[in-house]
Amino acid sequence: MKKCKSCQKEIDDKAKKCPHCHSDQRNWFLKHKFLTGILIIILIVVISNMGGGKESINQNKQSNTQEQTSEETPTAAIIKGYQEIYDEYVARLKSECPKLAMTECAELSNEGVAEMAKYMYSAKGTDGQYQTYEKWSGKLMDVYMQEVK
Ligand SMILES: [Zn+2]
Repeated sequence: MKKCKSCQKEIDDKAKKCPHCHSDQRNWFLKHKFLTGILIIILIVVISNMGGGKESINQNKQSNTQEQTSEETPTAAIIKGYQEIYDEYVARLKSECPKLAMTECAELSNEGVAEMAKYMYSAKGTDGQYQTYEKWSGKLMDVYMQEVK
């Protein structure tokens, strides 16, 4: 037997409600299972943010730099692919642009960039594709900019 929390009369140990005053004998957490669950989740989130907060940020930074370094070191075969397109279009820009209108010259350099983009997608799955594409297409655009001056 235990005592009712509210009227202090003796009631059954397992009673969830007092038979005398009908007050709920369960504790707050049992009465609010849903809220308790939410509180536990919030607590876990707060604790994990406090605990490994700085560490996890550092880990993120590390994995970012790792990704970047792997992107900066494309294979020689990949570089060769871009180099070939670059060389081809630089040669064409230099020989054709003086004879072309500015917009036509722009189209030609865009064609070269598009070739590089195509190459990027065809050589998919290799590290550093996008950054390498950006670098080589940027180089090609630089040549174009010099040619139209
Ligand atoms: Zn009671």
